[in-house]
Amino acid sequence: MPREDLEQLQLERLQATLYRLGTHVPFYRRKLREARVDYEALTSLSALQSLPFTSKEDLHENYPYGLFAVPLRDVVRIHSTSGNAGMTTVVGYTRNDIKNWSDLVARILSSAGVTAEDVVQIAYDYGIFTGGLGLHYGAERLGASVIPISSGNIKRQIRIMRDFKTTALVCTPSHALKLADVMMDMGLNPSELSLKYGVFGAEPWSEAMRLEIAERLGIIATDNYGLAEVMGPGVAGECRECNGLHINEDHFLVEVLDTQTLQPVPPGEIGELVVTTLTKEAFPVIRYRTRDLARLIPGPCPCGRTLGRMSRILGRSDDMLIIKGVNVFPAQIESVLTDINGTESPYRIIVDREQHEDKLTVMVEVTESLFSDQIRKQWALSATIQDRLITDLGIPVQVKLVEEKTLERFDSKGKKVIDNRKL
Ligand SMILES: [Zn+2]
Repeated sequence: MPREDLEQLQLERLQATLYRLGTHVPFYRRKLREARVDYEALTSLSALQSLPFTSKEDLHENYPYGLFAVPLRDVVRIHSTSGNAGMTTVVGYTRNDIKNWSDLVARILSSAGVTAEDVVQIAYDYGIFTGGLGLHYGAERLGASVIPISSGNIKRQIRIMRDFKTTALVCTPSHALKLADVMMDMGLNPSELSLKYGVFGAEPWSEAMRLEIAERLGIIATDNYGLAEVMGPGVAGECRECNGLHINEDHFLVEVLDTQTLQPVPPGEIGELVVTTLTKEAFPVIRYRTRDLARLIPGPCPCGRTLGRMSRILGRSDDMLIIKGVNVFPAQIESVLTDINGTESPYRIIVDREQHEDKLTVMVEVTESLFSDQIRKQWALSATIQDRLITDLGIPVQVKLVEEKTLERFDSKGKKVIDNRKL
């Protein structure tokens, strides 16, 4: 679609979205009124810059259904982000939303090379997270043969990949390297497999990691991007040029803003991605601050697609960590510790990547008396903290209790989060 036609479509869809929100969601009605936005008189996309932002906190404050723009009777699917109550975002989809979502994921898989002829193995967790089902519906929409293998039991994943002649692997990039490691342990050469494509997302990765995956598995490895707050996977994805992610601009308006001034950065410079949905019915958002840092890639793509491109995610403008593909905020861990100990004990969050697997360790200081003579009590406390963290975060956690004053020596700069992964 030529840019001019695309912009006209975006404008019409933006008007419809604002009308929907202004009519059905009290939170947005108030915000639009405060910002003096006359959405019926919107004539140009440049008006986007006068619209209010939506933050993660806004979503949390309206937990669970406060920002839904349709009654629950019209919602056919509910997903959510990780986190305990107060830190969770609940998102809903109408039947039409699911159809659009499937179409967009199919588009991304297609850009990555996948066709109806392919056997697609999806090794994302099939849970309340958007990754598993989002990719699943998209791959079915494309007409591929889908294997919903989900996560867990890696050797079985590999046996199925070999026996079912899987041609496309869909998972996190670190999981792809883990699979390559286990194949080596099993004495299986990836060239004996039928794999051609790897479609990877849900966590940040580097160009070096792409080369390693491509070489070890003998595949074309592409990146894709999405987040539950605006839909899930399907917001942007790379074509086989492997040089930036095409943004599905007919369904999303993506801005790249300076994190301080919240004004657009010059084209090609790094800033925060801010996303406005254009077709969502159940859960539309205006100018959602993703806190993900990236840059737009100017110029046409040799593949011929006219959709604009963005870089891979280059970092975060807040302290969120992505561990095993799951979003983790240090504040979640801190609130569990305060809950259990009754007071705020010094702690450190350490993230490592060992054999392509993320490991989360939480070190907590305990009083000297508990540390020196009450081993049983220590074990019990450590187990309680571990159970609560695993429940709240949804990923494995190691807990280490240490003596008072240990942690300040451990890291002189007093940083609470030590991320040793080289992302
Ligand atoms: Zn392209």
